[in-house]
Amino acid sequence: YTGKTGTELLTEKIKQFKVQEYQSVPIVVKEDASVYDAISTMFLEDVGTLFVVDNNACLIGVLSRKDLLRASIGNQDLNAVPVHIIMTRMPNITVCYREDLMIDAAKKLIDKQIDGLPIVKDTEKGVEIVGRITKTTITKAFVELIMDEHL
Ligand code: ADP
Repeated sequence: YTGKTGTELLTEKIKQFKVQEYQSVPIVVKEDASVYDAISTMFLEDVGTLFVVDNNACLIGVLSRKDLLRASIGNQDLNAVPVHIIMTRMPNITVCYREDLMIDAAKKLIDKQIDGLPIVKDTEKGVEIVGRITKTTITKAFVELIMDEHL
C-alpha cells in the first residue's frame, strides 16, 4: 500500500497522459485552396479546425469555423478567395509535440482560447503536421479516465 489517496493517484495518472495517446488525424488543405473548398472539407471531414499546408506539406496556417464564416459574410465568390488570405498564419500558431503532456496541451487551449492544436514535428523542410489535439480529444480522455475501473 502506497499510502496515496485516490485523488493523488488520479492526479498522477492524469499527469502521465501524453498527447500522442489521444491524438486524432489532422485534416489539411493547401494554401491555394479556396474558402469554398475549405468549407466543403470541413463538412466532409466533420472537423472544426483545418490546417493549411504549403507545397512541401508543411504547416503554414490554421482555419477555424469562424474564420470561414467571417470570410463568407457579404462575399460573393468564395471560390475566388484563397485560404491563405484569411488563415491565422505562422509564427502565430500554437503547436504541441507528440511527447507533450495532455494537461499542457489543455492549458494552451484555454490560455489561447482555441479549439485545437496541431501536433507537429520539426523537419529540415519546415513544420510537419503529425496529429491533432482538440477539446473533443481531451473530453474523450477525461471520460476514459473516469470510466477506468482499474485505476
Ligand atoms: P472559432 O474561431 O470557430 O471559435 P477557435 O476558437 O479554434 O475557433 O479559433 C479562434 C481563432 O484562433 C481563429 O482565428 C483561428 O484561426 C485561430 N486559431 C485556431 N487554432 C489555433 C492555433 N492552434 N494557433 C493559433 N491560432 C489558432
